[in-house]
Amino acid sequence: MIIYLDGSYVPEAEAKISVFDHGLLYGDGVFEGIRAYNGKIFRLEAHLERLYDSAKTLDMQVPISREEMTEVIKETLRKNNLRDAYIRPVVTRGKGDLGLDPRKCPKPTVIVIAVSWGAMYGDLYEKGLKAVTVSVRRTPAESMPPNVKSLNYLNNILAKIEANYKGGDEAIFFDTNGYVSEGSGDNIFVVKNGEIITPPTLNNLRGITRLVVLEIARSLGITVREQNLGYYDLYSADEVFVTGTAAEVAPIRDIDGRVIGTGKPGPITRQMMAAFKHVTETEGTP
Ligand code: PLP
Repeated sequence: MIIYLDGSYVPEAEAKISVFDHGLLYGDGVFEGIRAYNGKIFRLEAHLERLYDSAKTLDMQVPISREEMTEVIKETLRKNNLRDAYIRPVVTRGKGDLGLDPRKCPKPTVIVIAVSWGAMYGDLYEKGLKAVTVSVRRTPAESMPPNVKSLNYLNNILAKIEANYKGGDEAIFFDTNGYVSEGSGDNIFVVKNGEIITPPTLNNLRGITRLVVLEIARSLGITVREQNLGYYDLYSADEVFVTGTAAEVAPIRDIDGRVIGTGKPGPITRQMMAAFKHVTETEGTP
């Protein structure tokens, strides 16, 4: 596997960074998760915008331009002969000292990894996922904005650990106000009486798949609303699904033991899964 690291393409075994890198010492950095479908990169511009906006929010200057990053991503795919891939650009604060002051880190580290990728949840796209709500809360927007796709995923990891112990395929977070936030690595939607409802994006990641699904739903004439949701809305939904670059559109069949709808992926979820697949097959940056 060939990795891009700070201007060079190197074999994985040679892709090494300093133990003084603040990405490692403090989780100080940002990243993206991007898919390529049949050689075309899906919604590349939106992902780069979120990467650079995340870096800006952390007062971090990405040392290469968006145009250069685009070329690096394409070249990493080419060098690894990948057509269906998951691409992971990472920008860390870079090497500093053991203190946390970012002024001691003169140059951010840039890494791009690309691996072969297929359907993340296998047969669960047909069966539906079991989700569990977790006690860990998503960081509130007034402290560390969840809109920043930062290298600090500890609350997501705590959520995943809790879901693992409770036997769930995915965790559902609440925010500190008690509203549904998102999954540990995806955004959440409920369907009620033929309408699609998803939480607003102050207290979760502004998912790009979420936006694509909203676009698709509107184009199909389905009413979509961005509205705060609570436990009641989850448990009493006709359908629930999650969306993400890795997960795509994935149905939820059960939340905390409450069977959602018929316990099978519902008609609107199926429609979204099919339409999303179609968009990924027809769009993309060559
Ligand atoms: N929420 C979190 C916490 C994530 O890590 C992700 C994955 O990137 C998402 C939501 C979904 O975002 P996207 O659709 O842009 O991949």
